[in-house]
Amino acid sequence: MTFVFAPPAIASVEVLGGGRFPVRRIFCIGRNYAEHVKEMGGDPKADPPVFFSKPADAIVGTGSVIPYPQATSNLHYEGELVVALKAGGRDLQTREAAGALIFGHAAGCDLTRRDLQALAKKAGGPWDAAKGFDNSAAIGLIARSEDFPPPLFDGARLSLSVNGAVKQDAALSAMIWTAPEIIIALSRLYELKAGDLIFTGTPEGVGPLHPGDRVEVTAGPLPALEFSIEEQ
Ligand code: MN
Repeated sequence: MTFVFAPPAIASVEVLGGGRFPVRRIFCIGRNYAEHVKEMGGDPKADPPVFFSKPADAIVGTGSVIPYPQATSNLHYEGELVVALKAGGRDLQTREAAGALIFGHAAGCDLTRRDLQALAKKAGGPWDAAKGFDNSAAIGLIARSEDFPPPLFDGARLSLSVNGAVKQDAALSAMIWTAPEIIIALSRLYELKAGDLIFTGTPEGVGPLHPGDRVEVTAGPLPALEFSIEEQ
């Protein structure tokens, strides 16, 4: 087979201890922390978690300087725990089967063009332009599960700071759906495969980013994600 031009590079994420994780798809969950559902004007009991996705090449690694995106004047951070899969499946039935697919975890940031999301919500339109834009999936080094065995997240917190000021800080146990429950639900919509990443939702405290801002995200003992928004 001959490609008519050079195929794009495979998106990938650095793994703690060596090697790179090749990214196939990026799934994201919305409305997975009750306090965040409330701050967005929703009702956690009436509004169940939702799924959306980002393209694999939206990935941007730790240490990056990200250009302020085009077509927005309200870029928001959403600190999140990210789950990386080493195997796939569909119609999974048990938490054990779902958990067995997990390669490791990372700290991430689901960058969001909040103004475009508000327009999409109002119009009943898709979220793609609000969520799936270039450089919108920031992620730290992936820590292999064997290096961080359970109870990895017992008592752990998800925190995000901007220019050193804490903006989000919540217990990971506040997630409405746990990682295995998210994997089960996703597997009933899509056949999951090795290389899939899942952004598991953000807690309360989301807010805007401006040119020059420095962001740090931590999730329990995982390697911190750090990036900044390019000066203009
Ligand atoms: Mn999110």
